[in-house]
Amino acid sequence: MSNPWVQSITKILSGGDSALSDPVRAWCEECQNQTQHQILSTVHQEWLNEDHPHTVWNELQVVQCRGCENTGFRKLATDDDDVAWDGEKVVLRTSVDLYPQSTLDKRKPIANYYSLPPSVSRIYTQTVSAVNENLDVVAGIGLRAIVESVCNEKNASGGNLEKKIDDLVSKKLLPQQNAELLHRTRLLGNKSAHETRPLTADAMMAALEVVEHLLVTVYLIQQNEPKLSST
Ligand SMILES: [Zn+2]
Repeated sequence: MSNPWVQSITKILSGGDSALSDPVRAWCEECQNQTQHQILSTVHQEWLNEDHPHTVWNELQVVQCRGCENTGFRKLATDDDDVAWDGEKVVLRTSVDLYPQSTLDKRKPIANYYSLPPSVSRIYTQTVSAVNENLDVVAGIGLRAIVESVCNEKNASGGNLEKKIDDLVSKKLLPQQNAELLHRTRLLGNKSAHETRPLTADAMMAALEVVEHLLVTVYLIQQNEPKLSST
């Protein structure tokens, strides 16, 4: 099978180009803060998928902190198939990576998270990123969405999320004490997403641990059970 991706554009912009004159905010490892960075040069690459027409593009940038002049690398990746809702309209989602990466402690996803159902693992990995970036509103919504996606995936019944969690207990997918932990996180209240108050950093971390416990109990331990009982 031939590779359906065709590289269509490669453009190199360097100092003096007007597209580079606007500074960008990025994390500076030296300043230990978000600072203004000057873009020194950019390579723009674009690929077209001929089988399922859509385009992905990368901006690979050399950036320099305007405070300490520390220089690093910034990569923006966009896929015109990957869109998000910004509250008013659908927008393209761009992922941003910095190199060298921050030495600050970043939380890693649980082992074997890739064995989770795709609908669950996608929300989970994005929520871990949101927690790592201190995006408290997004992280709170994500944590709740993980619980919702688990309940949906397991066809839990009930008029609200709390009742659905109790149904996971009745289905013997979740021990009672884990359900009680979830109830205590206050993630499950009957509020809509825009009414949910962001969690503090500590509460966010504690809630993430409880939700990870749910994922391990419902999916990862269950997957291992047949192997254990056959030995
Ligand atoms: Zn700096």
